[in-house]
Amino acid sequence: MAAAPKVGFVSLGCPKALVDSEGILTRLRAEGYAISPTYDRADLVVVNTCGFIESAMQESLDAIGEALEENGRVIVTGCLGAKGDVVRRTHPKVLAVTGPHALEEVMTAVHEHLPKPHDPFADLVPPQGIKLTPRHYAYLKISEGCNHRCTFCIIPSLRGDLASRPIGEVMREAENLVKAGVKELLVISQDTSAYGVDLKYRTGFWGGRPLRARMGDLAKALGELGVWVRLHYVYPYPHVDEVIPLMADGKILPYIDVPFQHASRRILKLMKRPASGENNLGRIRAWRRICPDITIRSTFIAGFPGETEGEFRELLDFLEEAELDRVGCFAYSPVPGAKANELPGALPNEVREERRERLMRLQEKISAKRLKRHVGRTIKVLVDEVSAGGAVARSSADAPEIDGVVHIEEASKLKPGDWAQVMILSSDAHDLRARLVPGKSKRSVAARAS
Ligand code: SF4
Repeated sequence: MAAAPKVGFVSLGCPKALVDSEGILTRLRAEGYAISPTYDRADLVVVNTCGFIESAMQESLDAIGEALEENGRVIVTGCLGAKGDVVRRTHPKVLAVTGPHALEEVMTAVHEHLPKPHDPFADLVPPQGIKLTPRHYAYLKISEGCNHRCTFCIIPSLRGDLASRPIGEVMREAENLVKAGVKELLVISQDTSAYGVDLKYRTGFWGGRPLRARMGDLAKALGELGVWVRLHYVYPYPHVDEVIPLMADGKILPYIDVPFQHASRRILKLMKRPASGENNLGRIRAWRRICPDITIRSTFIAGFPGETEGEFRELLDFLEEAELDRVGCFAYSPVPGAKANELPGALPNEVREERRERLMRLQEKISAKRLKRHVGRTIKVLVDEVSAGGAVARSSADAPEIDGVVHIEEASKLKPGDWAQVMILSSDAHDLRARLVPGKSKRSVAARAS
């Protein structure tokens, strides 16, 4: 058996840096690397630095210099790495530099410069992990948990407070998915707009480039991967406006899934919804001014405890004004453990259901009107299924499983995961019918799509 590759390790700084070092060492050992006690027997050296005060910075720079002199192959991590380009200016020969608390970035650099020893079990798993979705689209989870306490929801008590994944880790997963053939990334979380709040928007690294853990920065970086990027569960905070120009410029899909849940201020307050004080109609109009083709999807709850007929009508008026493209609506249903169950004025089941039906009837007309504007247009679609009768595909306006589809006639030559250009022939309240645009080979279409 080949000898395990050896990594030397120098750990400087405070207890937080020590914990980071322990994390890196644990991972190195778990992946089969050996830890070398001397520079000369190591295949490369990781130096975890401190940048707290001048003397600590100097000590770190000296340690990097010593490792370069004794070994020559050095990866730098830790607080000094986060201080601009001071490491590279002093020691241009270092292999990679990351900031503190950057386990994934350090491991990526180690893998790049000292390949991981072969593990007959772990190596059976593809780099993008095991996916349950079709090969051409994948969900990209950017955080877990939620800091809000909506009264109808028990997710925070099940999954805890918001815990965002480091941006470098998210970007590497996205990159691996794209390398494995994924053409559409569906960004999910409980609250995508809050991404990075818990990390204090900490800077991470992707491809050696610093990136902040913020929704706008993440959307921009994902937009560079050349695939469809679709944002789900975005709450209408003012900073969401930053991603709309990315949609207008074609960097990410002009699609936003914003769970408004209601339109009445009083009900939204009772629900304790995030951004309940925002002027949502004003925001929607502003988004459409910047990106006229944006598809807006939302969900609502009808028959929340205490909802009056007047407040429900307010919601219907909102829908008529907002003309959202896609809407889902649930009749309020008490979840065991949810605070809303204690609110006075619970409505009978029939009233909740009747309101849900009224809402959906109204919305069907609105959705049908919105979809009709596509008739006669040529659009790009991503093919999901093919049968003898034709193909089922989706446009930028259709998220898998929850939105409508585009039925393409006579398209048996297409394969799932193909891009296609289609001319829209007709529409209903949910779906479009289309035919392939003649003379556009799949190859040329695919080239344009990437
Ligand atoms: S419904 Fe509210 S509390 Fe539940 S996950 Fe969404 S934002 Fe968080």
